[in-house]
Amino acid sequence: MDAERTDIVVIGMGPGGEDAAGKLAQAGLHVTGVEANLVGGECPYWGCVPSKMMIRAGNLLAEARRIPGMAGASTVDPDWAAVARRIRDEATDSWDDKVAVDRFTGTGGHFVRGRARITARGEVTVETAWGSRVVPRPARHPRQHGHRARPAAGPRAGGHAVLDQPGGG
Ligand SMILES: Cc1cc2nc3c(=O)[nH]c(=O)nc-3n(C[C@H](O)[C@H](O)[C@H](O)COP(=O)(O)OP(=O)(O)OC[C@H]3O[C@@H](n4cnc5c(N)ncnc54)[C@H](O)[C@@H]3O)c2cc1C
Repeated sequence: MDAERTDIVVIGMGPGGEDAAGKLAQAGLHVTGVEANLVGGECPYWGCVPSKMMIRAGNLLAEARRIPGMAGASTVDPDWAAVARRIRDEATDSWDDKVAVDRFTGTGGHFVRGRARITARGEVTVETAWGSRVVPRPARHPRQHGHRARPAAGPRAGGHAVLDQPGGG
C-alpha cells in the first residue's frame, strides 16, 4: 500500500465505526475505514440479525406444538438447515459485506480491509492480505485543515501498509 494522507482513520467498521466513518465522509473529510473482517461488524453477521432469525424459528416451532388440544392437529418436523439457509442467504449474503462496503464508499469514504494498529502518533499500520494497496489521496490538501503537511512515508515491507495521517507527530 502506498502511504496516504487521510483526515481520519476509523479502525473497525462495525455499526459504530461504520456510522461514524460514513457521517465524517459525508461531511467532506477524507476518511479511511479499516475493517479486519466484515463491514457491519458483529450485529448483521453474527449477532442481532441471525440470533433473531433463530429465535423466531424456535418460537414458531413452540407455537406449532401448541396446536393439538387448542386448534386441531399438527406435526412438527424441525429442520435447522432451513434456519441456517435463511441466515446465510437472506441475512448475511453468505457473510459477504459487499453491500456494506459499497454503502460506505458511496459516502465518499475509502475502505481498506485489514487489521489496523496505531504504530506512532498520527500513524496507522494496516496488515492486509495483499501487503500493499493504494488509497486515493484526499481531494483537499491537509494544509486546508490547518495541519502541517509532511512527506509521505513509503510502504513498509512484510505485508504492512502505512497510512500517514496529517497533523501527526
Ligand atoms: C447474539 C447477539 C445478539 C445481539 N443482538 C442485539 C440486538 O438485538 N440489538 C442490539 O442493539 N445489539 C445486539 N447485539 C450487540 C451488537 O452486535 C453490538 O452492540 C454491536 O455490534 C457493537 O457494535 P460496534 O461497532 O461497537 O462493535 P462490533 O460490531 O464488534 O464491530 C467492531 C469491528 O471492528 C473490527 N475490528 C476490531 N479491531 C480491529 C482492528 N484492529 N483493525 C480492523 N478492524 C478491527 C472487528 O472486526 C469488527 O467488525 C447482539 C450481540 C450478540 C452477540
